[in-house]
Amino acid sequence: MENKKEIVLSGIRPTGSLHLGNYFGALANYVKMQDDYDCYFFVADLHSLTTHPDTSTLKEHVKNVIATMLAAGIDPQKATLYNQSHLYTTSELYLYLNMLAYKGELEKTVTFKEKVRQHPDNVNAGLLTYPVLQAADILIHLAKYVPVGKDQEQHLEMTRNFANRFNHRYGEVFPEPVAFNFNHNLVKIPSLDGEGKMSKSVNENATIYLTDEDEVIRKKVMKAKTDSGPTAPDSAMPDYIENLYALMRLVSTSDTVSHFEKAYKNCTVRYGDLKKQLAEDMVAFVAPIRRRIYEIMEDEPYINKIMTEGAEKANEHANKTMVLVRNAMGLNYF
Ligand code: AMP
Repeated sequence: MENKKEIVLSGIRPTGSLHLGNYFGALANYVKMQDDYDCYFFVADLHSLTTHPDTSTLKEHVKNVIATMLAAGIDPQKATLYNQSHLYTTSELYLYLNMLAYKGELEKTVTFKEKVRQHPDNVNAGLLTYPVLQAADILIHLAKYVPVGKDQEQHLEMTRNFANRFNHRYGEVFPEPVAFNFNHNLVKIPSLDGEGKMSKSVNENATIYLTDEDEVIRKKVMKAKTDSGPTAPDSAMPDYIENLYALMRLVSTSDTVSHFEKAYKNCTVRYGDLKKQLAEDMVAFVAPIRRRIYEIMEDEPYINKIMTEGAEKANEHANKTMVLVRNAMGLNYF
């Protein structure tokens, strides 16, 4: 019987160790979706070239992301796990979609403007057309759902625009993909310094990586910004305190969370205690994942096998879409 499960796709760039933002914004959802959907999860090595042109550490980082996906609980028997550049047809679809993407809309993309600020000496066309490559990744598998964090919402809207433009011009090929987070709001995992989100490369000291050692986690959490505490009952929380509670809700028990919430409300909270508890709960959460990542990283033949088999399955699926695309566009010469 033909597989009628809805198609899910998502990717992570191999630009460094993955962190709690990647875990709760992406990986945790991947694991929850793999039983009920036809899932394609990939390492976005081509995307990483837009900001990391030096490829000397690329293979190591790709391996790390594959190992992290496996350590987080993705089962390669259920989901197709592959590396982006192993699908040459993505680059072909990227080229076609580039003809349907306008310079003005690309320049207005929030992530593009952010990257221009971060890398002013390398504002390349790949960076500008990043959302087009992302659209190609999604559309090549005719994906319907894309489990991503809040930071990706605008890119998905652009994917829908490109898909619609293609369908109007050449005939209906692509579905309209939507962001997916199990009916919850899309999550944004804040950094520990109260500024922005956890990120692979921007604020290392305020980001908890899934490969961080216990002591490193403790140090980072203890350094998080606090103040002398609320002076009136039921005061509003400043952002940096709210962030600590948000992180606590992810890794601590509900009893712990409500204990510290009450303490905040009645002005008895001691941030030193709160951070100590948060640090221990984070250590307990991250340590087993870290151990598993390193265990898998040691087994290179296993990682290579996962990537080879994943590439085969992903190519088979993508090739079918590309026949539809070329036919629709009239690029079927023979
Ligand atoms: P990236 O690390 O930018 O390749 O992102 C990989 C995935 O992790 C994407 O689905 C992002 O939306 C998600 N992600 C990255 N950072 C965060 C964060 N701080 N909070 C929530 N999701 C995030």
